[in-house]
Parts: sequence; C-alpha cells; structure tokens
Amino acid sequence: MKTTQELKELLYKNKTVADQQPDAIAEANAFCEGYKAFLNAAKTEREAAAYSEQLLKQAGYKPFVPGMALNAGDKVYLINRSKCVLAATIGERSMAEGFHLNIAHIDSPRLDLRPVPLFEKDGLAYFRTHYYGGIRKYQWPTIPLALHGVVCREDGTTVTITIGENDEDPVFTITDLLPHLGREQNQKKLPDAITAENLNVVLGSLPIADTDAENRIKLSILGLLNEMYGIAERDFVTAEIEIVPAFKARDVGLDRSMIGAYGHDDRVDAYPALMAEIEVQHPAHTTVCILTDKEEVGSDGVTGMNSMYAYHFLQQLCAATGVDSIAAFQASKCLSADVTAAYDPSFSEAFEPDNGTYAGRGVAIYKYTGAGGKSSTSDANAELVSYLTRLMNKNGVVWQIGEMGRLDLGGGGTIAKYVANRDIDTIDIGVPVLAMHSPFEVVSKADVYMAYRTFRAFCADAE
Ligand code: MN
Ligand code: MN
Repeated sequence: MKTTQELKELLYKNKTVADQQPDAIAEANAFCEGYKAFLNAAKTEREAAAYSEQLLKQAGYKPFVPGMALNAGDKVYLINRSKCVLAATIGERSMAEGFHLNIAHIDSPRLDLRPVPLFEKDGLAYFRTHYYGGIRKYQWPTIPLALHGVVCREDGTTVTITIGENDEDPVFTITDLLPHLGREQNQKKLPDAITAENLNVVLGSLPIADTDAENRIKLSILGLLNEMYGIAERDFVTAEIEIVPAFKARDVGLDRSMIGAYGHDDRVDAYPALMAEIEVQHPAHTTVCILTDKEEVGSDGVTGMNSMYAYHFLQQLCAATGVDSIAAFQASKCLSADVTAAYDPSFSEAFEPDNGTYAGRGVAIYKYTGAGGKSSTSDANAELVSYLTRLMNKNGVVWQIGEMGRLDLGGGGTIAKYVANRDIDTIDIGVPVLAMHSPFEVVSKADVYMAYRTFRAFCADAE
C-alpha cells in the first residue's frame, strides 16, 4: 500500500510561478520593462511590424530575398505589406528535418474609421467607426482614445497619423448617457445598451466664422486636418485609421505583479516570441517567428494566416536550400501562441475551476480551442502535448493546461487550425488575460516571462 504522501505525489499540481520558481519573479519584472515599451510603441499591427523590424535590423537580420544563399546561423526577415513580420534563423540541420515555428498575432480589437467617417450633428463633429474584432461595445465610451493610422493621398504619397499619445496631444472620446437620463438605457440588454451607431468619436465643437455656411464645425475640423496632414475628405477612402485607447501600459497592483494595457491580445505572446527568435544562435532546426495580422477578424486576407504569405516564405526558404517543402512541413512543429481567458474570481460562475487557467500560474497550454463541442478547432495530438510538456519541464517553464471557461457559454478560436491544415503539427499556448478584449487588459508578468522561456526553449531544441 502506498502512503498518503506517496498518493499525493500522483496528483496533478497547478501551482503559482511564485511558489515553483521564486527566482523567476525578478527576472520576469526585468523582462516586462521591454514588453511595456513594445506595448506603448506598437498599438497597431503596422506599428508592431515597424518596431519589430527595427529590433530585427539591430540584431543583424538581413532582408530575405528569394534565391539568396542561406547558411547555418544566418538571420533573415521579411515584412509582409507593412503588417506582418517573418523572421528566421537558419538551422544547423537541413530544413527537411522541420522548422520550429513560433506564431502570434499583432492585430487587436479596436475601432476603425468608416470610409466616409466625418460628420456633424447638433453642435459636435464626429468620426463614425466600425468595430474590428470582438469587442463589448459598452466598454469603449468615456475613456481617452487616440488615432493611429495611415492616409494614402491623391498624389500617391502616404502620411502617418498619430494623435493622442503625447501628453501635450489632445485625445478623443465616445460619450455615454448620464445616469440621470439612463432609465430607458438601463432596461436594455448589455449588448444593446451601446450599439455600433453610438460609437462615434468626438472631434470638435468650434464652427468656422462664416455664419452662412452649413456644417461649420465639420468644415473647421476638415480645415485642421488639411493644415496638419494635407488631406481632404476623399482621402479617408484611401486610409486605414484605427481608434485605440490613449493610455499607456501600467503596472497593476501594489505588488506590481501585473501589467494593465491595451492590446495584450496578442502582443503579450508576440513580443516574447520575437525576443526568443532574436536571441537564438545556431539552432539545430531552422526557427521562424511569424507575427501575423487579421486574427481578430478570422485570419482571412493577404495578411492573415489563411493567406499563403507565411507558407510561401517557408517554401522559399526551402527552395533556397534545395529542400522539398512538403517534407519540411511534415517534419515541422508550431507553437500557435495566443492569449486565453484567465480565471476571474469576480466572475467565477463563467469558469470551471479545475480546467481554468490562472494569472500567475505560468504559460497556458490548450490542447484545443473551439466552441460548441470543439467545433472548428485544431486538437493537438497527445504526442505533441507530451513533446511540449517535456520540453517545458526540462527548461524551467512553469505551465498550466486548461480551457477557456464554462463550455456552453461560448468559446473562441486561434490561428492554430490554419497552420495545422497545412500538415504542420501545431499546438496552442499563451498567456492568460483578465478582461480580454477590453480597452485595458491585465496579465501577470510571471506568465509573460514563462511564455518567453517556452519560445526560447523551443527555438533551441534539437529533438
Ligand atoms: Mn488573440
Ligand atoms: Mn483576441
């Protein structure tokens, strides 16, 4: 007969990073300073791609040119249409033995401008927005907002716009009703209390001097935009302008153990994946870090993981070294990195505690995602989960495994299936997030650091 103690050893333990790896807390705090800088500099996919390109160039990465000579240890990168990052370190072994792929996404839920966005109504000028990704609309009014984006002008030049990030900049906002007049709104269901047609961004209130003109405030705003950026109303047709929260990443909690910010989903995986890729030297397998776009709207389009862009890059790497890409794909492994829900004690009814993933308990593995009976998921093979947990255990990674929440409440997907559908073994991992998809998401620094340790171990692994 086994003793109680021996029997307890048989239990699956889900403990905090602080308990399992106390020394990692200080390392996590240091690592997250770089992450906060990334968050503040990269609130859109274009900004994340540009910031990543700077880091890659500083680290000696050379632009990838199809057909170029590639030798073990070489570092090359490609930026897809200003919105996706592909970075690779050529392995000591043939690519026929497989790539080690770390993939995350750098688009986040936000409000985009409509093609004809500018209007005036009853004394205020506004931008009309179209929400991008799964937002809870009621969370976006009454916070400071910033404008980020590009406008392609009639003359073929492109101007970059950023307003609301510097302390001296103005910010923008969406209004909500005062409680004194809220009786009707209070009776509505939460999704109906604020609708897409309410998500109008306040731009100004001063009219032009000519009292005979119509739309005098709109004309005044248009005049300011023309002075500042040389643009006319028609130029919004050829623009991509995103409305994002204007606040910066901040430490959360008296113990500063967490970070609150806009856009953790999925920069919280993208940044550690990129750092691991940059730091790896002479890996056995060729490592590839892909930071993709359009995950939040279903991964379609030329910059999404449903596009061939990423696979073309891998195929061109194979072609440059004379390797059959089919064999290379079949031998590859991919960590599809995306955030998952952190168990929220204030909303515990939405979770199933045994299979919850918790802020502060390390990087989360999720064997499958999906909704309504694992629908539309890539369910990783047990063998692949075993490879990953062994790799993590060998490399001091504190990890946990779970599901998003109570099964019949909903669910969600990631890019894992798009990669797996190309015959590449793929598994989901990521950092648990509190208040995911809100303007101010919260993560544990210890979990961010454990994601980094995972990517680093996977890049270096020779198995
Ligand atoms: Mn995501
Ligand atoms: Mn998301």
